[in-house]
Parts: sequence; C-alpha cells; structure tokens
Amino acid sequence: MRCVRCGSEAFERFRGKIYCRECLIIKYDGAVESSVRRYRMIKNGERVLAAVSGGKDSIAMLSALKSLSKKLNFELSALFIDLGIGEYSRKSGDTARTLCREYGIDLHIVKIADHGFTMSDVSGKICSVCGNVKRYLMNRFAREKGFDSIATGHCGEDILSNFFKNLYSGNIQWSEKQKPRLEGYDRMVARIRPLYEMSERENMLYVLAKDLPFVEDECPHAPSTTWKELVYEIERKVPGFRVSVLRNLARKKKIDKEEYRYCRICGEITTSDVCQFCRNVAKYSRDQ
Ligand code: AMP
Ligand code: ZN
Repeated sequence: MRCVRCGSEAFERFRGKIYCRECLIIKYDGAVESSVRRYRMIKNGERVLAAVSGGKDSIAMLSALKSLSKKLNFELSALFIDLGIGEYSRKSGDTARTLCREYGIDLHIVKIADHGFTMSDVSGKICSVCGNVKRYLMNRFAREKGFDSIATGHCGEDILSNFFKNLYSGNIQWSEKQKPRLEGYDRMVARIRPLYEMSERENMLYVLAKDLPFVEDECPHAPSTTWKELVYEIERKVPGFRVSVLRNLARKKKIDKEEYRYCRICGEITTSDVCQFCRNVAKYSRDQ
C-alpha cells in the first residue's frame, strides 16, 4: 500500500486514510494546530509550560508544540514532576530529559520529596493523591516562574472517561472544567489541553512515526481502565461520539463561579480551610 498524499511506502491509517511516516506527521501536526486555533488555546507571545510525564501522550504534545511554537509565536518550556515512584519515575525523568535536550527546550524538575514524602508513602487512594499533588505543584511552579499557561497531554479518551467517572460519582460540576483552555484566575494559572481532540491511538502513531523516546510502562499505581474501555466501546458503536461530546463540552458555559478561599497553611486556592495538598503533606510527610 502507498501513502494517499505522496505515494511513498505506507506507514499507518490516520483518520480513515493511509499515510507514510512523513505525511502522517504533517497530518497530525495540522490536526493539533487546527484545534489549538479553533479553541484559541494559546495566545500570541504566551509563555507555555508543558507538563511532561514521559508517557506517549505528553511526549507527543511536547513534540507537536515544538513544531508549532514558531508559527503560532509562543515560548515553550517543560516541567517534569518527580513523584518518587522508584524505577518508573527515574525512567520517566530520563525520557523527558532526552527529548528536551534534543529540542533545546528548558526542562524544569520539581520533586515531591522536597515536601517530605513520595508516592510510596501514600496509602489508600493513591491516584487521587497523585492527581492533587501534580495539579498543585504544576500551578504553583508555573505561577512563581511567570508562565502564562500550563499544557497537559490529556487526550480525548482521558477527558471522556473522567467525565463518565465523575458523572457516576455525582460530581456534576466537574464537567464545567473540561475545556480545551481554562482561563486562569487569581492564583490559578490558565490550563490548556492541546491534544483535546486527538485520540490515544493517534498520539501513539505520532510518537512511533517520529521515533520519539517515551516510557511504555504504565505507572504501577495506574487505575482500572474500565471507563476508558467504555469510551472505546461507545465510539465503536457511534463513530464520531468522542469528538462530538468534546465539542459540546467545550461550548458549555460555566454556570456558577466556584466559591473559593485561600489555604490557611500555604495560601494557595482551595474550597476549604486547609487545601488538599497541605492535608496530604500533613498526613504523609516524614518531616512532621
Ligand atoms: P495523568 O494525570 O497521569 O493522566 O496525566 C495527565 C497529564 O498530566 C499528562 O499528559 C502530563 O501532561 C501531566 N503529567 C502527568 N504526570 C506528570 C509528571 N510526573 N510530571 C509532569 N507532568 C505530568
Ligand atoms: Zn506521504
């Protein structure tokens, strides 16, 4: 089989057509660019901090943003959060370092160990503690260093499977935040999701086509994939479901402004007296 665009040797199918490696890369970059433009995700001259975990999605994001940074005129730096999950964190950090060195991108590293604990000290709902720690550290770091937005590698299936999970547990407000760009307010830095309309498979094809380094191992604490499998199942039965729901979510206006205050301990934004991060520190830190 041959690439429909240039006739070279075929690599893979992307959005219904067969492409060679080079043309698949062009098509993928074009798709990311059109969703960045469609949702006005990145403003002219912005300083973007890409949160890179070393997995295929955030590696694909970093690479695609690198290709777009000149054309769309934004500055790009990267952040890796060392969660202290043994060999997994070591490999992930090395991967982020390798790609950033190759691209000449500044890589910042924040260690959760500097707060007196690592993920290995956490008991119970490790993924929710980890999610909280990552969001907190990304925001604080980005704000303190003057970044305008934080880019994460969340792809369509991540957003939809979280949507169902939260709907199931009654957290309806959650869906209000599933935007391709969430504006910053007060001490919160804007959040962007350049891969909002890309799928996991497309991200994988892109990193393979570009031969990018990425960590294949799943985090040893990764949650069950049940909700994601459901998203795939629905997409199989209703082709176009994923993109259609994502576009509707992006359009939905925020109903109430969330009430917030400042954490009594660290001063970051929270809805209670002491923020979840400081409660995690109090519970797990060995320095206390
Ligand atoms: P996850 O929360 O693991 O689903 O990851 C979602 C996104 O958060 C990734 O695509 C990255 O952009 C970011 N992220 C996850 N883990 C890390 C990490 N250790 N360091 C920096 N960014 C991360
Ligand atoms: Zn081609």
